[in-house]
Amino acid sequence: MQKRKRCLNKDCGELFTPCPQVPNQEYCSKKECQRARKREWNRKKLASDEDYRDARRDAQKNWREKNPDYCKQYRARQKDYVQKNRQQQRIRNRKRHVDLDNLIAKTDESPAKNTVLTGRYMLIPVRGDCLFLYGVTRLQRQTS
Ligand SMILES: [Zn+2]
Repeated sequence: MQKRKRCLNKDCGELFTPCPQVPNQEYCSKKECQRARKREWNRKKLASDEDYRDARRDAQKNWREKNPDYCKQYRARQKDYVQKNRQQQRIRNRKRHVDLDNLIAKTDESPAKNTVLTGRYMLIPVRGDCLFLYGVTRLQRQTS
């Protein structure tokens, strides 16, 4: 009889008996565990095989050229996705353009006009050279 193994899918981790045809089976036969196995295989293959990576990139490019409206239609259907994506891009842009000199208070500076808009804000960690600073981003009002 086959020795039982622990499924490598970290969301599962259950004991299972490998199929006799697949003695090196490391993931149980549940659908989500088989998906995890394929994802892991694909991740390793993309990291290690340049030809595989190029072939996949070309295939994706061809598919996009044959389906030019797909992304536009997807974004039209998935409003939450679009909103979240814009928010995250704004955060990335803030991090990229952060100017550390302007974040340090100057005592001889005349007080600036209050330009803070009312609304909800979110703190964003901004990484400095040797310290962590926080910036804020104003949350867009949901328009739907
Ligand atoms: Zn499993």
